[in-house]
Amino acid sequence: MSSNVPSGTAAGGSGVKSKPLSPFKKRGSLQYTASTVEFRGPRRLLTSQHSLPGIPVALKQSIDLRTSMDGKYKEIAEELFSRSLAESEMRSAPYEFPEDSPIEQLEEKRHRLERQISQDVKFEPDILLRAKQEFMKTDSATDLEFMKEQSQAPNQQDRDVVQESEYQRVTISGEEKCGVPFTDLLDAAKCVVKALFIRQKYMGLSLQSFYRTTARYLQELSERPLYLDIYEEEEELAETTETSFTADTTVHPPASDTHPYENRDPASMAPDVGYGCKMVNGVMHVYTSRDVMEKNTELDLPYPDLQEYIADMNVMMALIINGPVKSFCYRRLQYLSSKFQMHILLNEMKELAAQKKVPHRDFYNIRKVDTHIHASSCMNQKHLLRFIKRAMKKYPKEIVHVEKGKGQTLMEVFESMNLTAFDLSVDTLDMHADRNTFHRFDKFNAKYNPIGESILREIFIKTDNYIEGKYFGHIIKEVMADLEESKYQNVELRLSIYGRSRNEWDKLAKWAVRHQVYSNNVRWLVQVPRLFDVYHTKRQLSNFQEMLENIFRPLFEVTINPGSHPELHLFLQHVVGFDSVDDESKPEQHIFNLDSPLPANWTEEDNPPYSYYLYYMYANMTVLNHLRRQRGSHTLVLRPHCGEAGPIHHLVSGFMLSENISHGLLLRKAPVLQYLYYLAQIGIAMSPLSNNSLFLSYHRNPLPEYLSRGLMVSLSTDDPLQFHFTKEPLMEEYSIAAQVWKLSSCDMCELARNSVLMSGFSHKMKSYWLGPDYIREGQESNDIRRTNVPDIRVAYRYETMCEELNLITQAIRTDELETIEEEGALCMGAVQAEK
Ligand SMILES: [Zn+2]
Repeated sequence: MSSNVPSGTAAGGSGVKSKPLSPFKKRGSLQYTASTVEFRGPRRLLTSQHSLPGIPVALKQSIDLRTSMDGKYKEIAEELFSRSLAESEMRSAPYEFPEDSPIEQLEEKRHRLERQISQDVKFEPDILLRAKQEFMKTDSATDLEFMKEQSQAPNQQDRDVVQESEYQRVTISGEEKCGVPFTDLLDAAKCVVKALFIRQKYMGLSLQSFYRTTARYLQELSERPLYLDIYEEEEELAETTETSFTADTTVHPPASDTHPYENRDPASMAPDVGYGCKMVNGVMHVYTSRDVMEKNTELDLPYPDLQEYIADMNVMMALIINGPVKSFCYRRLQYLSSKFQMHILLNEMKELAAQKKVPHRDFYNIRKVDTHIHASSCMNQKHLLRFIKRAMKKYPKEIVHVEKGKGQTLMEVFESMNLTAFDLSVDTLDMHADRNTFHRFDKFNAKYNPIGESILREIFIKTDNYIEGKYFGHIIKEVMADLEESKYQNVELRLSIYGRSRNEWDKLAKWAVRHQVYSNNVRWLVQVPRLFDVYHTKRQLSNFQEMLENIFRPLFEVTINPGSHPELHLFLQHVVGFDSVDDESKPEQHIFNLDSPLPANWTEEDNPPYSYYLYYMYANMTVLNHLRRQRGSHTLVLRPHCGEAGPIHHLVSGFMLSENISHGLLLRKAPVLQYLYYLAQIGIAMSPLSNNSLFLSYHRNPLPEYLSRGLMVSLSTDDPLQFHFTKEPLMEEYSIAAQVWKLSSCDMCELARNSVLMSGFSHKMKSYWLGPDYIREGQESNDIRRTNVPDIRVAYRYETMCEELNLITQAIRTDELETIEEEGALCMGAVQAEK
């Protein structure tokens, strides 16, 4: 809708009415038709259709059709003629829109923006003040001071009213709003809602988050109260109000004085509660006594039911291939794309103007989180190279490796390879992904070896080696120092737990604590490679349950008795969740169903399928989370690599079990899933540069499409060591995306805001970075002074989402006779999962 005019002055040809003429009438009359105009608040009858052809002559005369061009026609025409005489090759003809000429386009845009700003200023006189402020900006401290003064000024109230975002909304009216027959809409709506309920169930059960707005709509359809995880929010919200958090608080969370790894004294940790645990059918069970044989002592911690999971999985599989549902979702996605194009067409200038009005804030100083990056490749090649050279100079005599019982110094290692420090270059290091790695994940994995030598990988980028990960710790700390210096960049580094032995967690935690590998800008995710078949062939594991136990038992032990693994207890406080990694395009030999062997019986050569890994990680994490909550510790989330390649059911598992995912490329081929990922606002950490080297060339990457539709996407680097060239790989990623896809500054800031939202940083940190109300719904969740995202964009996303949810839930409510609970078959037609 149009709202750059005060309400009461209808846009369009409302001059017929006795209202005073708005100065912007002309613009309005060019842009709106009656059917698309809708005012917020009470609906208004519009009269603009009277200006259409065929209206009575008498009426026509009363309509003011004068424009600002009147009287200038001649001038303009003459200029046009004269220019056609002296046409230059450089510039496009004046009647053309300068689509191909960037300079002219820029010029045109600048003019439009100037007009927009001058117009806004008329409505918001104090904006002028702020615009001036832009020129005076010095540093953040004075800015904050200024903002404080501003907010204390008496006209605060007025400004709040003005700040309520007014922009041009696109709405569709008519009976069949979605372009499919009502019965199809109903079927599709039921299926979509069913799927959302499934996800909601698994998120609730595991204490992972579920998108608030969608939950609200689902709640309206459900007779039972939905279990939503609000415990943490309430707790932490209370905490933030204690410290009197207001909109003017600085964007930087206060730093703690003490190092988080300092206090290693087990006596200072929470006491042992004396529980015991035992793995049964691949899932850990907890008992109130260490003597786990006593069955009646089992603690009532919820975990998923395998049978139910398989049934839900089958429903989901049937749903994503159901014809009518598929075409419904496809059409909605198309609509969302088109609607966004329209939004941009109508509001681009307003968005840009809003950004320009914010003092101090710009794309460089808003928070960004690299939501998907592996620790072993988080440094760039140049950095690693310099580090190796420095190590050779500094510690040539240090024994770094044991070969056949004999210790080797760093010097000897390089001598054995016939190399000196001088020889080394980025080219000899040869770790960059190149054209040879496309669709060759095996070759890509080999790129982790500097100079193609696995021994160098062992020495420099492993946490568990002869020097106890000393070099790796140092290099990660250098990366951390760079991040802290850049201030606004944060990363969620993946470290590996393989599940080959029980002490992996302790070793990893000791590495972090010993070398003090910690930064406020960094959180850890633990990645579990899906390599059971490899360890099984090497006879390191005899069945899959052993692997699960190696991964999860230490976590249960440390939660029950922190003093039993003091380092792990400290380290775990900065771990936000689990990732599941490996080449997804590897063929899977097995289909996960009720006939699949239980983990203890999984002794075959074959690797369990993706969904099997994910289910058992999820199941154990669920029990662990409930135990951790009881003990007052933070809970963990599942954030697997998912949908980078391979079969589509990976994305189904991801939808059901994980809080957010990395990659999600294959959603582009599955409209039902893509629509569901949209409605559930599941975070997708995308790495187009990585994809470009491995699976999908850059220009075919679906990120811009996802973004336009409103999926919760963020940009991440994956492996800077292999893909990036500069010291700021995340900026490089943003920069390339912006240029290739012509992203606007608003798009970039939205991506950055998404990255913070989907990251595992604490509620408190996010409140500082995004604003104290970031957890609310709609535009009030946004604080443009922190995020640099215009309220208009946030409001557009929110309203669009509500419209979609409304369409679906309304359809179901209209069909009063059935309730959601009753339909078992769910109109699947003949399609039944044959799994
Ligand atoms: Zn990755």
